[in-house]
Amino acid sequence: ALATGAMAVSLAACGGGGAGGGGGNDEGETPMVGVAMPTQTSERWIADGDAVEKGLKEAGYDVDLQFAGDDIPTQQQQVDNMITGGADALIIAAIDGTALGTQLDAAQAADIPVISYDRLIRDSDTVDFYVSFDNFKVGQQQATSVLAGLGLVGPEGEEVADAPKGPFNVELFAGSLDDNNAHFFWDGAMDVLQPYFDDGTIVVPSGQTDIEQAATLRWQQETAQKRMEDLLTETYNQGEVLDGVLSPYDGLSRGIITALQNAGYGEGDKPLPVVSGQDAEIASVKMIADGVQYATIFKDTRLLAEQAVIATQAYLNGEEPEANDTESYDNGEIIVPSYLLDSVIVYKENINEALVETGYWTEEEVASGQ
Ligand code: BGC
Repeated sequence: ALATGAMAVSLAACGGGGAGGGGGNDEGETPMVGVAMPTQTSERWIADGDAVEKGLKEAGYDVDLQFAGDDIPTQQQQVDNMITGGADALIIAAIDGTALGTQLDAAQAADIPVISYDRLIRDSDTVDFYVSFDNFKVGQQQATSVLAGLGLVGPEGEEVADAPKGPFNVELFAGSLDDNNAHFFWDGAMDVLQPYFDDGTIVVPSGQTDIEQAATLRWQQETAQKRMEDLLTETYNQGEVLDGVLSPYDGLSRGIITALQNAGYGEGDKPLPVVSGQDAEIASVKMIADGVQYATIFKDTRLLAEQAVIATQAYLNGEEPEANDTESYDNGEIIVPSYLLDSVIVYKENINEALVETGYWTEEEVASGQ
């Protein structure tokens, strides 16, 4: 990351303009920005990568955009290559938030600013800035959508008259434990669900209420499907009915729904449980429109990409990017100044307003699911 003193010197040396962040660029050359994304298996990261690349190019920079296939050594090597290739700034969405220590040290030695993209890089004091959403709130919204589907609250969590007493059977899924966000989503969700556990309105019949038990390594759909299948055979084998599933990501939700459908949910008098999600992936948005998945959380990746570009520009101009949060994201070493964006719960009723009118998906895409 950025040693401010050295930064000032290098800026003075090139007369205040040009490439700010050290790296390998000679004076007058177009600055180069390395962009490391985790995977192309989820469409959100493809969209993130595209939007960041486009924004950086429009700002006049060269871009080295890499996806790592969710493989940690691949991502480490990609970042190494960006640094040796002369990157002037790095934008990184880490696969494992603690696995880039060597790369961060190299970035620091070369005075390259590091922007942590959506997922916080942990246990390092060389992360300069964080762009993301309010991830605790995302978790709260996921739990709220489950409660709303069960009729316990209104769509935004507001109290309803004559709420049912339950008990409702709900199972819990979490994301990948090496992703800092997974913990924030979980904590936010538990914050909302705890009172319902406490008064017995919601029960978790499997007893799997720790994040370790609920976790899904690398956020893999197949892993979630398998766990849902196991839960159904182990816990719901005497006619018990599952009413809701807390799922933190649309890909997992689709795996969970497949397992449920294979077990006969969604047919006859056995409706599908209320299933939450995240990212407004198009296949899931269609499922929400069709009444199969109950809700998702929309995080506008276009706005996130824009913030990453703004922060990069600031560094490359020798300035500090503007944070709107300087207390929420302690990465274990430092509190990383952050720019956090807002997220929106999407139900069938507001697909149009939240996703179509904002130009995120077209009506045709929602209808076809692709
Ligand atoms: C992101 C989510 C995404 C998940 C799986 C998280 O870090 O914040 O938007 O669903 O990774 O890709």
